[in-house]
Amino acid sequence: SSVSVDSRTDEVLPVLGRDVQVPLVTGGEAPYAALDYAASAPALQRVWDDVAAYAPYYGSVHRGAGHLSQLSTELFENSRRTVAEFLGCREGDQVVFTRATTDSLNLLAAALPEGTRVFVFETEHHASLLPWRAHDVTYLDAPRSPEAAVATLESALHAAPAGPKLVCVTGASNVTGEVWPVRALARAAHRHGARLVLDAAQLAPHRRVSLTELEADWVAFSGHKLYAPFGAGVLAGRADWLRAAEPYLAGGGASRRVSRTDDGTVEVEWQRSEARHEAGSPNVIGAYAIASACRALTEAGFDRLAAREEELLGRLRKGLADLPEVKVLSLFGEDADRVGVVSFVVEGWNSSHFAAALSAEYGIGVRDGLFCAHPLLRTLLGQRGDTPGECGAAGGTPALNAIRVSFGAGTPDEHVDRFVTAVRELVRDGARWTYRTEDGRCVP
Ligand code: PMP
Repeated sequence: SSVSVDSRTDEVLPVLGRDVQVPLVTGGEAPYAALDYAASAPALQRVWDDVAAYAPYYGSVHRGAGHLSQLSTELFENSRRTVAEFLGCREGDQVVFTRATTDSLNLLAAALPEGTRVFVFETEHHASLLPWRAHDVTYLDAPRSPEAAVATLESALHAAPAGPKLVCVTGASNVTGEVWPVRALARAAHRHGARLVLDAAQLAPHRRVSLTELEADWVAFSGHKLYAPFGAGVLAGRADWLRAAEPYLAGGGASRRVSRTDDGTVEVEWQRSEARHEAGSPNVIGAYAIASACRALTEAGFDRLAAREEELLGRLRKGLADLPEVKVLSLFGEDADRVGVVSFVVEGWNSSHFAAALSAEYGIGVRDGLFCAHPLLRTLLGQRGDTPGECGAAGGTPALNAIRVSFGAGTPDEHVDRFVTAVRELVRDGARWTYRTEDGRCVP
């Protein structure tokens, strides 16, 4: 079939997986349209090439005397410097390699000083909502504008007792795609003696994230959402709390000196560098892949990426706006600044069935469900309390789930156009097959 592929970002940032053919339940096959970048973005060809070029040479870092170990150590530490530059780190900031955002935020939660009070909006992804539970947490109601977010935080901090405080906020929502006023929130935090950690899992792949410019104290992100699929992530920012904390994991690499004392116990002196929180053999390929993606995104330019995404968003939103049955989810309203992440529900449809139809009949991969943000979904869908139903429309209650479409570098117009056409056909004509949700299989 003839598809017109807009190659404006393809030329700069080709991604893997564009040639994957998927079988359609209606017969034949289609090129897979990956519209689930918010879950995991496809790897950049460039990241893949860089990793392949390095693959024959990798060895264990920080340990071996051999040539390849030394080379790997150098590449690992260079990757750290690349990431520090990418994130606009300040003098003295640390860049800790982790497994992903969830890991990064749990690490920080484990490193908070005794008695820290944490402030977090109910709208957060579970990764940024839940790690703080061993501390005193103040949960803030969903704001309905960026200005309301700042005002809500400001008054909560104003009312808080003295002592260490941390604000955790997501830069761009994994549900609505809306961009949060990070710098204003960081300034509000600092006015009240609090610090701020930015969950940039969804922001970093789309916009330049600079600790210096955003005035945030820490930032966390995941490689696999930043076009580098190798099980690594980052926590970067202020060194003092990290240095003062017990290591996140105890083990080799985190310890500088371990000795048996006269009374027969074991005494440890921990590292003061990032290695303190990187015990065990680090994921050197993951770190290298992240650095490669950081370089590629920087060279492509975030202005260009954002402009291209704006085009795709316009195309998508225009297509959906023609369908009154489609309700796009939003906290901040029509004019909100957003990245390429849009969630919606379709009147008369269970979102899981809808997503299954998109996959089976059109070869389009989206996500459905509650997106690890249950309180936010309840707020957006106007359902408080314990409404049942990942998939169930029990007793006439609308199911508590939605459909999410998300994209980024390398997404061609054709994927968005096919998606809009598919949504229109499904809304107007219904699915050609019946969808079972229990095992995801389609039956006629
Ligand atoms: N925060 C946000 C906003 C996210 O979208 C995600 C992933 N969906 C996470 C945190 C967690 O990232 P990871 O699963 O890579 O740890």
